Amino acid sequence: MLLTAPDVRRLAAALDLRPTKQLGQNFVIDPNTVRRLVRTAGVGIDDVVVEVGPGLGSLTLGLLPEVARVVAVEIDPALAHQLPLTVAERAPELADRLEVVLQDALLLEDLPGPAPTAFVANLPYNVAVPVLLRLLERLPSLQKGLVMVQAEVADRLAAPPGSKTYGVPSVKAAWYAEVAKAGTIGRNVFWPAPNVDSGLVAFTRRKPPAADRLATFAVIDAAFAQRRKTLRAALAGWAGSPAAAEERLRAAGIDPSARGEVLAVGDFARLAAT
Ligand code: SAM
Repeated sequence: MLLTAPDVRRLAAALDLRPTKQLGQNFVIDPNTVRRLVRTAGVGIDDVVVEVGPGLGSLTLGLLPEVARVVAVEIDPALAHQLPLTVAERAPELADRLEVVLQDALLLEDLPGPAPTAFVANLPYNVAVPVLLRLLERLPSLQKGLVMVQAEVADRLAAPPGSKTYGVPSVKAAWYAEVAKAGTIGRNVFWPAPNVDSGLVAFTRRKPPAADRLATFAVIDAAFAQRRKTLRAALAGWAGSPAAAEERLRAAGIDPSARGEVLAVGDFARLAAT
């Protein structure tokens, strides 16, 4: 029932589909990779799964037998139209578990049906971080998930404070969830093959810090906009002056000569609340 390389080619030809880079259209052609994704996601028959970018249905077909329901959000009208037909053909007994929503996931407000519990997706690479953050923000019922992203983005999302790849995506994702790398994926499992490797990122929702999210995100953005500078200098604009920045940093118990890359999300939250 899972899509193989010839299946993907046949479906693409029937749709006259020309995969675009702009929409990050790289379709999985390897059933073993799909099985690995579903297994690593740890979803079960009680889960209501959101999938962003189902494409031709490679991952959707792997999820449907394992979970209660899949809500698939796809931006490309031709793909969104085809997906229920593909599922009806290959897994008719599971067709009523699927709902397709034709939408840009970056503009997602909410979803039809029961509250989603898990997010599993092979994300379009150029918008992977904003899509992940958007879903974590808009869908508080999401408890866990597994996303496939560009390897470099996987490193950034899962980076701990103090590491070279730690930055805005790492801190903002940590606001919502515990994030960890969950494996790497080569290029040949896709059609067309991308020119970067991929990585898996697993997350589990956690209680956010006790602070205003937007205020905290504003300090995070300011601190990393000039990540080579000390926090005293980098946050001068945000606080009004270097002296005001120093005062707020000290009030939050943070060394003003430190750099943003050593602060955890809880430190940024405390700073925002000063
Ligand atoms: N899940 C499929 C698979 O694994 O073969 C396709 C993954 S492909 C990397 C990304 C998919 O996301 C494409 O189907 C593309 O049309 C869709 N997409 C791109 N941008 C999107 C957006 N902003 N909102 C929803 N879907 C999007």
